[in-house]
Amino acid sequence: PRMSRTDINTCIEEVVSVLDIQLQKDRFTIERQFDATLPPVTVDGNKIKQVLMNLLINASQAMPDGGRITVRTALAKDGRQLDITIADTGPGISKENISKIFDPFFTTKGPEKGTGLGLSVSYGIIRQHGGRITVDSAPGRGTRFTIRLPIDEAAA
Ligand code: ADP
Ligand code: MG
Repeated sequence: PRMSRTDINTCIEEVVSVLDIQLQKDRFTIERQFDATLPPVTVDGNKIKQVLMNLLINASQAMPDGGRITVRTALAKDGRQLDITIADTGPGISKENISKIFDPFFTTKGPEKGTGLGLSVSYGIIRQHGGRITVDSAPGRGTRFTIRLPIDEAAA
């Protein structure tokens, strides 16, 4: 991995701006709520972008008729970690499925559209950075993924 000190807001903006124009055509709104005071993190920026891309594409695919995606950054309460949250206004995830979404090859999209690898690969990448990725979702209430990354320590 190519670890370097990275401004996470810039990293996110690079991914979001690529998708933004594309998604606007499909009646998506991407709302940015960036905490501009975040300290840099030591990450493999390309890997983090891969994770963000996975989450944003999942959100857009969950909302075929459009919707809102909110991307937020914030300092965690302990001040030593930061949170990136990606929330959508899609259909949410059933209790039965939510325990499986990080498993390799689990997909509800059918073999044409989904490999079921995006979230399992993302999970591994965030673990390699000493972080956590979690999900909060319920049917009819949308889905929110949270990536928590350490600020001080360099990852393995
Ligand atoms: P894939 O996108 O190829 O299906 P992923 O690992 O990215 O594989 O996602 C696994 C499954 O998790 C998806 O098939 C879908 O059922 C569920 N999922 C992921 N993100 C969302 C989301 N934002 N809203 C609803 N369901 C989601
Ligand atoms: Mg996916």
